[in-house]
Amino acid sequence: MDETDLSRGADITEESHAEPGSEEASLRQRLQKIVSQNRSLRETALRLRQQNKYLEERHGELIDLVNHDPYTGLPIRRLFDRRLDERFQELSLQSEPRFMVLGVIRLDRNYSRIKNSRDRNKILIFKTTSRIKDVIGENLFQSDRLDEFHILLDHIPNMAAVELIADKITEGVARPHEAPADDISFGCYLGIAVYPVHGKTRDELLGNADIALNRCETLDTPYVIYTDEMGRQHREREMIEADLRLAADTGFEQFSIVYQPFVDREGRIIGSEALLRWKHPTLGDIPPQVFIPIAEQTGDIRVIGQWVLYNSCRQLSQWHKKGYVDLYVSVNLSPYQFKQRDLVGRVAGVLSGLGLKGRYLKLEFTESMLMENRDEVVRKMFELKAIGVRLSIDDFGTGYSSLNYLRKLPIDTVKIDKSFVDDVTKSEPNQQIIRAIISLVHAIHLECLAEGAENGEQVSLLLAEGCDAIQGYYFSKPVEPSQFLSYLENGGRFDLTLQSDDSDELCAIPQLASDSVAADT
Ligand code: C2E
Ligand code: CA
Ligand code: CA
Repeated sequence: MDETDLSRGADITEESHAEPGSEEASLRQRLQKIVSQNRSLRETALRLRQQNKYLEERHGELIDLVNHDPYTGLPIRRLFDRRLDERFQELSLQSEPRFMVLGVIRLDRNYSRIKNSRDRNKILIFKTTSRIKDVIGENLFQSDRLDEFHILLDHIPNMAAVELIADKITEGVARPHEAPADDISFGCYLGIAVYPVHGKTRDELLGNADIALNRCETLDTPYVIYTDEMGRQHREREMIEADLRLAADTGFEQFSIVYQPFVDREGRIIGSEALLRWKHPTLGDIPPQVFIPIAEQTGDIRVIGQWVLYNSCRQLSQWHKKGYVDLYVSVNLSPYQFKQRDLVGRVAGVLSGLGLKGRYLKLEFTESMLMENRDEVVRKMFELKAIGVRLSIDDFGTGYSSLNYLRKLPIDTVKIDKSFVDDVTKSEPNQQIIRAIISLVHAIHLECLAEGAENGEQVSLLLAEGCDAIQGYYFSKPVEPSQFLSYLENGGRFDLTLQSDDSDELCAIPQLASDSVAADT
């Protein structure tokens, strides 16, 4: 019996004049029941269909919700990965290679510096992504961070077009915001890798776009397109990073310390700067300017710095035992070391372990260190002073610290940066700058040490201006402990009459002198 029959059955029941209690009447009754059951079933079916539709809609919304970022509404990383895989599959079927641009956008430092309410930040991010969408449409994806996005662009004819798009995106993001956010401005970094030139696989392309992004951040430039040279440098850096850690973890055998003398106004060696050297097993000598910043970024500088501190102090105490008891050693302290909570305890531990008085250790730090956490820096400086350690400002003149500020710090020595020394003989104004620095340093009763003196002319000028001590190739390059000891054994003194010699010879020969450092003690 189909539905029409049943509906007809309903009519039959209505037209009935059957005897109550007759067989016909009971049949009609059953039929009536079936008809009403059928009606309710139909109603249920309709309701279920409606509910199903509703659930399907909600399901769609939920899928949409989990696949899109709640703040920006952009498709999330998972969708980006899926799209990337699909694109790679399509591209593998193409006979003609086609450009595909993969970009990573990260908002710049000025964005992270904004201290706003969360709501305001959300609005700013939303506006920013809208601006990017104005340039590249829906090809924008949210990355795993709120301030980072991916772009994936197809049908790009050439590199010039890539640059044009990069320009438009970065300019768009950097455009000033309207009120009430017009006090805020930030830009972005965009790292770009292009298929197939910069990578033929998904991972290669993604990795290279990240390398380009890193380069943007390092150079603080809006966008960078990946190059093979960039990749080579990145791999080399990663290797250095890993090897540096290994070298520090496995007994420091690849490291050594060289010592460069400080010479006073009489030509006497009064102390030395300890300078770290690293001989890489395959790459050979790696300059400290290369590996120190890496060690600072990885945090390895703490353990490396501690090794330098201990070993240079140990070296000094050996020289003391040989009778050169007035010598001191000056050790470079990275800002990262200075941030260590137990720095002062560590320094004190090294000194007491070696039985060395604090005044024989000088710590060199740069002006930049004074910029951050001033209170903490000042407190630690006073604590170091309290254990007798002397303090020296390195590369003076390259940072921003004012002499007035220096006056309030327990500093002993100001090291005039090599760049001033380089120029001192070149013009009268340069000489006046050195003169001004020296007299100001003296006015606040500090010692003035000039670094990087390479010729006699510079040395004689520095001495004439009243500089207290000089360090530089003119006297000696940084040398191994055995060479340094032979300087001491040869009188521990440089003949300052050499300064009148205008030769460009970098290394002066230490002259034997009767009143050597050893003899003085
Ligand atoms: P710095 O502290 O400014 O050290 C002085 C640098 O100038 C040394 O380079 C030294 O060899 C060089 N120098 C000295 N006199 C002359 C000169 O007359 N002419 C020229 N051209 N150069 C001169 P080095 O040893 O290559 O060290 C470079 C930098 O690496 C140092 O600059 C310092 O910032 C860092 N560094 C070295 N050893 C350590 C260390 O143990 N710890 C930390 N934190 N940094 C270190
Ligand atoms: Ca130094
Ligand atoms: Ca220096």
